[in-house]
Amino acid sequence: MEHKLPELPWDRSALAPHISAETIDFHYGKHHAAYVAKLNAGIQGTEFEGMPLEDIIKKSSGGLFNNAAQVYNHTFYWNCLAPNKGGEATGTVSSAIDEAFGSFEKFKEKFSNSAATNFGSGWTWLVKNASGALEIINTDDAGCPITQGLTPVLTIDVWEHAYYVDYRNARPNYIKAFWELVNWDFVNENM
Ligand code: MN
Repeated sequence: MEHKLPELPWDRSALAPHISAETIDFHYGKHHAAYVAKLNAGIQGTEFEGMPLEDIIKKSSGGLFNNAAQVYNHTFYWNCLAPNKGGEATGTVSSAIDEAFGSFEKFKEKFSNSAATNFGSGWTWLVKNASGALEIINTDDAGCPITQGLTPVLTIDVWEHAYYVDYRNARPNYIKAFWELVNWDFVNENM
């Protein structure tokens, strides 16, 4: 079974001015595509050939884990974003955020701060834990919450390739722009 680069849920220029078409060209067209190609090359002739992506992530390590998890993480990230979205949380996740963090503003501040201080390359996630409560966690490199038994709800990619074209080294400005794009409909689907 060959893993495929999923189609983007929107046009490459649709997230501008917050995230440019040039960033998407590189981030999706080069980076995400390369993770898919390396995943397919890495599973050939191994026990992982024919295995669903989530199982590979849970059972592999090293380079294969990195590529598999990055395929999953990026697909999840694209779905977290959409044009003409953003603003405050809606629906089920809105009340779960209030319960876990006190208010949307407090959650936004805590999540933004985690993303800004996530050292090096990684991801910041809103996850649902085993008891159903929301938590914010950081992962390094390709780290993926499903290996910790957590359900991903929302993520931001804080690898430099996610923002360097548009914001250079100013990660906080990219994080600010991220809030203009969050697709709360998708986030609610993950609850
Ligand atoms: Mn990335």
